[in-house]
Amino acid sequence: MLPVIALVGRPNVGKSTLFNRLTRSRDALVADFPGLTRDRQYGEGRVGPRPYIVVDTGGFEPVKSQGIVKAMASQAELAIEEADVVIFVVDARTGLTPHDERIANHLRRSHRPVVLAVNKAEGLDSVHAAEFYELAMGEPNMISAAHGHGVHNMIELALSHCPDEEIPIVEDDEVQEGKAPRVKVAVAGRPNAGKSTLINALLGEERLIAYDMPGTTRDSIRVDFEYDGRDYALIDTAGLRRKGKVFEAIEKFSVVKTLQAIADSNVVILVLDAKEGIAEHDAHIAGYVLESGRALVVAVNKWDALDSYERSRIDEEMEHKLHFLNWARQIHISALKRNGLNHLMKAVSDAHAAAFAKLSTPKLTRALIEAVQRQSPPRVKGVRPKLRYAHQGGQNPPVVVIHGNSLQAVPDSYKRYLEGWFRDQFNLAGTPLRIEFKLNR
Ligand code: GDP
Ligand code: GDP
Repeated sequence: MLPVIALVGRPNVGKSTLFNRLTRSRDALVADFPGLTRDRQYGEGRVGPRPYIVVDTGGFEPVKSQGIVKAMASQAELAIEEADVVIFVVDARTGLTPHDERIANHLRRSHRPVVLAVNKAEGLDSVHAAEFYELAMGEPNMISAAHGHGVHNMIELALSHCPDEEIPIVEDDEVQEGKAPRVKVAVAGRPNAGKSTLINALLGEERLIAYDMPGTTRDSIRVDFEYDGRDYALIDTAGLRRKGKVFEAIEKFSVVKTLQAIADSNVVILVLDAKEGIAEHDAHIAGYVLESGRALVVAVNKWDALDSYERSRIDEEMEHKLHFLNWARQIHISALKRNGLNHLMKAVSDAHAAAFAKLSTPKLTRALIEAVQRQSPPRVKGVRPKLRYAHQGGQNPPVVVIHGNSLQAVPDSYKRYLEGWFRDQFNLAGTPLRIEFKLNR
């Protein structure tokens, strides 16, 4: 599970500045993930090798008539509840305020570990931090979100409060037994898209092999099941709870859980509601899947409820709004009538195979040379990049590392051309593909 860090503090102390810095620090992989409500923002960050989810809780103004507890009740509350650690941001320039003290009291009651960040501290002497000891929130960490000072150390401190990453299951064990590895699947989609109906249809009672009951709301569910002779694990999905033998949609939809489930999976099934069309929220989840590098299958659900005119309209809409996912397969299904599920799971299995494809250096290099012969990279300021050879740098998603000279001059359009080329040559439908350049000295 990705650790979750919540940024809490009164308005104007610099939370969104800090949020931007933390999410931007992840190499080229910025995932702004606006939630269902406008007052929270989600993103993924990384310090060293360790990724985490960061949630900006927005500024919570105390509502005087009802008190701060009421004001924080819904959204910020859920964010704190879901967080492994809270970064409590205060402002070194304005100093300690009564509002800070009220927030501190609230945080104490939440029983979450808190790291105190004294922001806007660039150029200030450490005496400015002293008054914040009064909050009794531990050592104040002087930082400057705007300039980046102290941020790295503070995040390392915050992550030290998070549970250690689980040791990943060695998938090769299962391969050695002659079995295909278990495919870890996350089912994502907005509320009411039909996720629980789909899961119930896929699992069936008798196929359910193992089930971990979550002890608290922060634990995750994982269900192992078999479909058509293949082993799958369903990773905890946001907005779902098990009740008796079936999954039910719950009221509280959690973006954090969606992000964690995606990060823990190999393949994401994105469930769209064909009756409602493509919503902004669908595109956000799709964008996040793309950035996470997970393989993806789009399930266009409730196909049974559409007439032929509506069907062609929704197909057009998808082409238009989800064009950046043209590598992912789209399967029309009816979770309710259990139509299309075999196709769907075949696509999941194929996407998994593509995500874990083994690409040999000679084959990759041959494909690279052919790609360049067909269309060479454009000359930039008199320099033509030289692409020499390629090898595989990772799986899920497959990474193709290309070596050569002047590779910094390769334009994005050419990179996209190569992406499409390798995808076709190696049958990599269903998975994102990354191209990386390594300069030869
Ligand atoms: P939020 O309301 O807590 O999200 O605060 P913002 O991130 O919007 O920042 C509020 C103001 O503080 C903006 O004008 C920022 O430019 C400024 N600010 C944020 N971080 C720093 C910092 O490290 N140093 C200084 N001097 N100003 C900062
Ligand atoms: P979730 O919130 O994504 O888990 O969605 P649910 O599985 O609870 O489904 C929401 C509603 O859509 C329910 O009333 C389902 O009966 C209905 N629904 C789900 N799948 C289908 C489908 O394939 N066709 C039709 N017509 N309705 C469906």
